[in-house]
Amino acid sequence: MKVARFLLEGKTLIGVLDDSGSVIHPLDDHLSSMTDLIRFSVSGFKFDGKGLQGIPLSEIKLLAPIIPDRNIFCVGKNYFEHAKEFAGSGFEAGAVKGKEIDEYPAIFSKPPTAIVGPDDVVEMHPEATEAVDYEAELAVIIGQSGRNIPESESMRHVWGYTIVNDVTARDRQRNHKQWLAGKGLDTFCPMGPWIVTADEIDGGNLDIECKVNGELRQKANTSDLIFKIPQLIAAISAGLTLRPGDVIATGTPAGVGIGFTPPRFLSSGDRVEITISGIGSLSNSFA
Ligand code: MG
Repeated sequence: MKVARFLLEGKTLIGVLDDSGSVIHPLDDHLSSMTDLIRFSVSGFKFDGKGLQGIPLSEIKLLAPIIPDRNIFCVGKNYFEHAKEFAGSGFEAGAVKGKEIDEYPAIFSKPPTAIVGPDDVVEMHPEATEAVDYEAELAVIIGQSGRNIPESESMRHVWGYTIVNDVTARDRQRNHKQWLAGKGLDTFCPMGPWIVTADEIDGGNLDIECKVNGELRQKANTSDLIFKIPQLIAAISAGLTLRPGDVIATGTPAGVGIGFTPPRFLSSGDRVEITISGIGSLSNSFA
């Protein structure tokens, strides 16, 4: 199922897309939180979106599918070629040649205030950065809560998947050493267009690509992840309870702006479109 959060006549609703992908069926007039739906769902609530009348997608505005209660968990340097391009770019604080691949996943976070939805505008923040970059990523949505989750059981905790653009201010990422300052700016986390439930797709084998103004920049498959989804869930949940609605962005492939010489940072007016097979496309302009 594709489950979306959307705006209709000023009201936020949750709904399920029909098979045509052009009509959405609201679940309940009073349900506006995806986290609540996920909590109900893991407690046994079944839904299929066939209760209320469908509305054409053209008549609603899609919102980011979920605004989690706390920071989004993110993973850095999780595709080989990207780890190399980042280390060689001069923008990785403390980079050591020959040690581009980490023994443990690099975990950081973005605040939920950074999230915007499909087609929303990402601010360039010229007062704070001169080096805005894109990062196409598959994001995992947690269902069943758990702590110290073993890799062998981790996929039972995945409720679904969506797309995230881990927008990054490279100068701030380099200058402040820890990545929150370069990753957490308002609007720096476009997410959507919806969540695809885990029963429908294999998160470990999805094609992912990113275009800037129509030009292909990133192209990979999630099977190329260095630390796979089960390893990430095990690592993040070690001593930390993952909760329904937590979001884990799994890292970006090679082809980001700093992978070019000279770097190709985003400019006002650019449009970035990320497509993941089985999910759809997330497109945002920058201004
Ligand atoms: Mg990233």
